[in-house]
Amino acid sequence: MHTNHKGFQTKLVHAGAPKDPYGSVVTPIYQTSTFSFENTQVGADRFAGKADGYIYTRIGNPTIRALEDCVAALEEGVGGIATSSGMGAVCTVCLALLDRDTHVVSTASVYGPSRTLMEKHLGRFGVSSSFVDTSDLEAVRHALRKNTRMIYVETPSNPMMQITDIRAMADLAHAQGALLVVDSTFASPYLQKPLSMDADVVLHSVTKFINGHADVVGGILIARDKAVYRRVRDVMVITGCNMDPHQAFLVHRGLKTLALRIERAQESAMKIASWIESRDEVAWVRYTGLSSHPQYELARRQMRGPGSMISFELKGGFEAGKTLMNKVRLAVLAVSLGGVETLIEHPASMTHAGLPAEERLKAGITDGLVRYSVGIEDPDDLLGDLEQALASDQAH
Ligand SMILES: *Cc1c(COP(=O)(O)O)cnc(C)c1O
Repeated sequence: MHTNHKGFQTKLVHAGAPKDPYGSVVTPIYQTSTFSFENTQVGADRFAGKADGYIYTRIGNPTIRALEDCVAALEEGVGGIATSSGMGAVCTVCLALLDRDTHVVSTASVYGPSRTLMEKHLGRFGVSSSFVDTSDLEAVRHALRKNTRMIYVETPSNPMMQITDIRAMADLAHAQGALLVVDSTFASPYLQKPLSMDADVVLHSVTKFINGHADVVGGILIARDKAVYRRVRDVMVITGCNMDPHQAFLVHRGLKTLALRIERAQESAMKIASWIESRDEVAWVRYTGLSSHPQYELARRQMRGPGSMISFELKGGFEAGKTLMNKVRLAVLAVSLGGVETLIEHPASMTHAGLPAEERLKAGITDGLVRYSVGIEDPDDLLGDLEQALASDQAH
């Protein structure tokens, strides 16, 4: 790792750079399952951890390592653990840090499959879980139990862009002998650094902003200290949640433009969110860059910028939202987010359809809510697209 590179954008480009015998500027794809040993002693030393070098790709691989080192440098952690998917990262960290008869407190509006993992599957192994509004410190304090070993927060949360105070959560967790894990997917390492606010582990679905090109599914975990790093890495290796070298190459390639992509999308998102808020058809908008956001000040304190995710509700409810989503020509109707292309989706019938209606409404996910992930297209084209779609909405 190039420790002499301090600036974020310099790290994006140079951290995790290869030491390649041919001077390759980019880390090559080491598309191999296994690595040869010069002799039996070398093999034995590598297995015993007494010698550097690779053994087998599930355990480690230079292409994957380059990505892990780069994201670890960006998040200012001790090491990265790349996984097959974002859910592979969530699963790995839960299996590593929770035991039978322990308890986890998690954000109520956490990514649906993360909740299913904790509630349904870890529940089968004797782990109990509470889902609370983690933007409410009292609610979290109330939910803590003697056996709470993990506080798991997603901030900003999906799709309501609710912000949780990371430092306050770290203090609560540590006073309890628990660890704080932050799903920072919606912020990316560019907008928020949870480890610098005392979180113990930060995770990302790299499928979203880190890769940024909607062509890979993957995940990554970064730990603040060595002991936690080892515990989590061991579980990744044992469960086989590892990333693949080709996947790592693509993600690392996409990552290099993270700051440029986010700056561009964020500038457009600010324009578009203000425009949406000014429209008569719109009941409300949720964007962390607007002063109407209930946690505008906390978002400004904790994040470098507001990012590019906007949620809004049309006065005409679900029917109006459906018309809008069917009439847009530029924004693509699809789930996922954080790519170069603008995506639009309907949480109540798509990403959050699995939640019971009562839970969904409690989390603020109304039937007419539309989620909009701003890409890097020309903002005027995106505004024109929304305008024509809303106009046709009125005509019906
Ligand atoms: C997409 C997502 C995940 C899961 O990631 P996959 O790469 O789809 O497995 C986890 N958390 C958040 C916040 C996400 O948006």
